[in-house]
Amino acid sequence: MKLILFCGPSGSGKTTIVHHLLNNNSYTSFSVSATTRSKRSNEIDGIDYYFLTVESFKNKIAANEFVEWEEVYTNGFYGTLKSEIDRLVAINKVVLFDVDVEGGLNIKKMYCDNLLAVFVKPPSVEALHKRLLARASESEETLKLRIEKAELELTYADKFDVVIVNDNLETALWHAQKMMEDFVSGVLKK
Ligand code: 5GP
Repeated sequence: MKLILFCGPSGSGKTTIVHHLLNNNSYTSFSVSATTRSKRSNEIDGIDYYFLTVESFKNKIAANEFVEWEEVYTNGFYGTLKSEIDRLVAINKVVLFDVDVEGGLNIKKMYCDNLLAVFVKPPSVEALHKRLLARASESEETLKLRIEKAELELTYADKFDVVIVNDNLETALWHAQKMMEDFVSGVLKK
């Protein structure tokens, strides 16, 4: 069983890195999280997230079905289902996660040596501000919240096994691919 966790602030490029690895390595698979937030127009249920009602999410919490979950804002739940990890491990996939820092550290605690925890870091706080500003989807209020959360998350980098600085995207993608291959082959040990 091999699991690789990608964490980092919003705007660090972690989602781009995860998509690149998924597209280029058929032995990998994405751990689809559950959420109660509403589906965006470009998202597909069961592919991007399992979109659940608040009631159904709470029932799964009560039934102990999550490895980790968080209420990011009132009634805005996100979590990783045990059944999702079991499903992918059973078909011998290397499981890739794209979760926030707190959730990531909770998953790391549970899977120890079978899991490589990667922190994706923007080159500087200024660069992060610029990237978040460039995202047309952000209203001023959510932008401010994301920047505050991102600055806090940056202080957690040293709790991860590996840090990838995403200054140049091509270089970051190359490092991510190499690091994954080394972890899967056993060259990179925990
Ligand atoms: P978004 O709503 O933009 O898709 O994601 C918001 C945040 O939730 C992101 O930082 C994302 O990484 C995080 N997230 C996605 N899935 C999970 C999960 O399963 N658990 C936790 N703790 N956070 C998640």
